[in-house]
Amino acid sequence: MRFNTSLIHGNVGPKEERSSTNIPIYLCNSFQYETAHELEEVFSGKKPGFVYTRINNPTVEAFERRIAFLEEGIAAVAASSGMAAIALAILNLVKSGDEMVSASGIFGGTYSLFKSFENFGIKTRFAEDSSVESFEKYITDKTKVIFIETIGNPKLDVPNIRQIADLAHEHGIALVVDSTVTTPYLVKPIKLGADVVVHSTSKFINGSGSCIGGVIVASSNMKIDYDRYPLIKEYKKYGEFAYIARLRNNLLKDFGACISPFNAFLNTIGLETLGVRMQKICENALSLAKALKENKKVVSVNYPGLEESIYYQLATEQFGGKYGAILTIRVGTKENAFKVIDSLRYAVNSTNIGDVRTLVVHPASTIYVGFSVEEKEAMGVYEDMIRICVGLEDVEDIIEDFYQALEKI
Ligand SMILES: *Cc1c(COP(=O)(O)O)cnc(C)c1O
Repeated sequence: MRFNTSLIHGNVGPKEERSSTNIPIYLCNSFQYETAHELEEVFSGKKPGFVYTRINNPTVEAFERRIAFLEEGIAAVAASSGMAAIALAILNLVKSGDEMVSASGIFGGTYSLFKSFENFGIKTRFAEDSSVESFEKYITDKTKVIFIETIGNPKLDVPNIRQIADLAHEHGIALVVDSTVTTPYLVKPIKLGADVVVHSTSKFINGSGSCIGGVIVASSNMKIDYDRYPLIKEYKKYGEFAYIARLRNNLLKDFGACISPFNAFLNTIGLETLGVRMQKICENALSLAKALKENKKVVSVNYPGLEESIYYQLATEQFGGKYGAILTIRVGTKENAFKVIDSLRYAVNSTNIGDVRTLVVHPASTIYVGFSVEEKEAMGVYEDMIRICVGLEDVEDIIEDFYQALEKI
């Protein structure tokens, strides 16, 4: 089954369950059973079934099944947001006293989460760049997780997933990969060795900015040493499903960060058109990056699809010649950046990515406003930088829009 077919027909579940073409939305809290004995069996896990939507739900499960299939994982758990997915994915592996090593050019919300983890005794060390050596340097015998994004947002650095997975596994550490900006259309990190993949499905998977959601995908790559990961040990009897079983039956249940069935439905219909959208988005982004490079008002353009990017070779190999939707430009000063943003006619000023419409944001004064200048620069955020997330408009219109806005500075 090829990619676009798998979006529509991959692991859609047993047909006898329903006659509707789309997955029905089960908007209910709980599920009823004829006998007390039956519910007892479902509750204890002896019989499959749904109990309460905080733990599982048929609409949510349909979404999870399809994502797991696309990512070539063994199972998935959906969460209320991308942040919830990242928090749960990691807290399922670490406890107070443990450490993580993270890429530094990561999404601001995730950086902030890792800082918050310190309040719970979990320390994150940030690698200076995306080279394997800079991750290795910070590994200690307390390190339980290495965390990377497939393309750092907004630094747009590209780590070598396979090499970092090898490094993690040499040290008996789990690699958690946030693939929000690439989606399975560009890369399937599990095939490159990732143990766990997370997405903010609010972005490209949903595709039209209609709801918040997240998902965690577990793989069979994970070779849990139960003595190093005592949290999972209790779930040992589930074999390769131990990680996901604990995630659902402990963290998801206790923290309550479940996705709404309605949002799972919106994400599922978004998922079905992921391929055609990502194809067009990647083409548009590359054309826009090339056009902006020619504009005299633009000081620099950062996009892994430009040959001068230091990540061009790796991105080309790892992502099959596609480079995603996000690029950044620098325009000299913060005032210039604001002027360009305010002058755009189509591109929308909003702190989001992965929408049908082209989005721009001034990261330094918004998502990264709480960070020091040093922290911002470590994350690839500068005062004169605009982040652009290209949408599905005709690219000629997007290019013209930026050109007229740049004329104003
Ligand atoms: C948006 C985003 C998140 C957080 O997701 P939410 O759904 O907004 O909670 C995490 N990682 C990346 C790369 C993102 O772009």
